[in-house]
Amino acid sequence: MKSHVKTIVCTLFVAVFAIASLATAQDKAKEYAVWKSLAERTASEASKVLKRVPSRSKALVLTNAGCAVVDGHSTEPSLDGLQSWKGASAGKGTLLDVHSARNSALWFLFHDMGTGDAVYFEVNGKALEPLLSRLPQLSRKTIRSRVFALRAKELFARIDHENIGAKAVFADPAAWNQKAKAGVFGGHAFALVTIANAVSHGASCDVIRAALFHDHYCPGVTSGVILANYLESRFPAGPGGRYFIQAVDPWCKEDALLELLNSTPGKRGYAAYYPSDADKARRLPEAAKAATIAYRQQTRGGAWDGVVLAFDWPDTGCAKAGGGIAEKLCTDLWFLKRMDKPEDFVKVVKSFELPKGTSPLDWARPGVDPLEKLGLLQPPAAEKAQ
Ligand SMILES: [Zn+2]
Repeated sequence: MKSHVKTIVCTLFVAVFAIASLATAQDKAKEYAVWKSLAERTASEASKVLKRVPSRSKALVLTNAGCAVVDGHSTEPSLDGLQSWKGASAGKGTLLDVHSARNSALWFLFHDMGTGDAVYFEVNGKALEPLLSRLPQLSRKTIRSRVFALRAKELFARIDHENIGAKAVFADPAAWNQKAKAGVFGGHAFALVTIANAVSHGASCDVIRAALFHDHYCPGVTSGVILANYLESRFPAGPGGRYFIQAVDPWCKEDALLELLNSTPGKRGYAAYYPSDADKARRLPEAAKAATIAYRQQTRGGAWDGVVLAFDWPDTGCAKAGGGIAEKLCTDLWFLKRMDKPEDFVKVVKSFELPKGTSPLDWARPGVDPLEKLGLLQPPAAEKAQ
């Protein structure tokens, strides 16, 4: 009798568990339908706003879908919906997700790389609330038709239509700086103009990856890509080897190095300090421009050696471009043609080997300055006076 009751209880438990799992799967599928349909709806809106719909090879979509979280909802399914716009694809580099904080508004940019025409949509999360609160009662088909039935004015907090091609930006730099100041593209004007132009000017996959992680494409992140290129060609860690990167003058380059070398602080592969002007004034003249120390261990457990690197900023002639976005974009495009010549910009301040038994972590401890260890600082004033 007892075993009979046990069997009934077990069967009931399995049935309840199966029903709960089915409900969860259905809820997930309906959530997916909301955010995928939203992107499809926005893509069809973009085709109405743009002067003409670009060919597949000229269509580019940028978004922060997947990063932005709207009222606790993941926006990742929108990435699939965006593929409906001229076959935009992550694999072809025509659907790019730009890094942003989870609390950022969700946005999409549709761009014709042929004409420079672009339209930006910022989603009003509130417009989706009535739909999201009734998902159990709605079918996926109904969800899609409800998303498509929403008025554009309700669904989008902002729609901006601009020509972002380099030609248009260089033709009127002052107007672009004014637009950026006024918050066009939700304050992402610099980020979107530079990333879109990097793609349309043929930037390589790693340049784009660094720019996406950094959330904009600037000369600073370019210098990081060039430093990574230099390390891989002139100071290779080799298969199975690893780097430890230490920024002694951090700027945008750090994000490119993190992304491309995968030497991250969380994995004990990266450190940085921010020197003051007084700290920099202590550096010997040859180390005045020291920016990054790269340590290398070619075999696990083996010895570490390193290089102190400086980055020489060339005169690109872009100072005449009109400042702001135009000047930065001009510099970005200038560098884009020279990414494979890292030795033209990267200078070795000092090469060294770490003492046996010492790891880069020992030189990244609080109060330890690796430049002092390397004899690249002037002695403190008190010592000088003696
Ligand atoms: Zn930057």
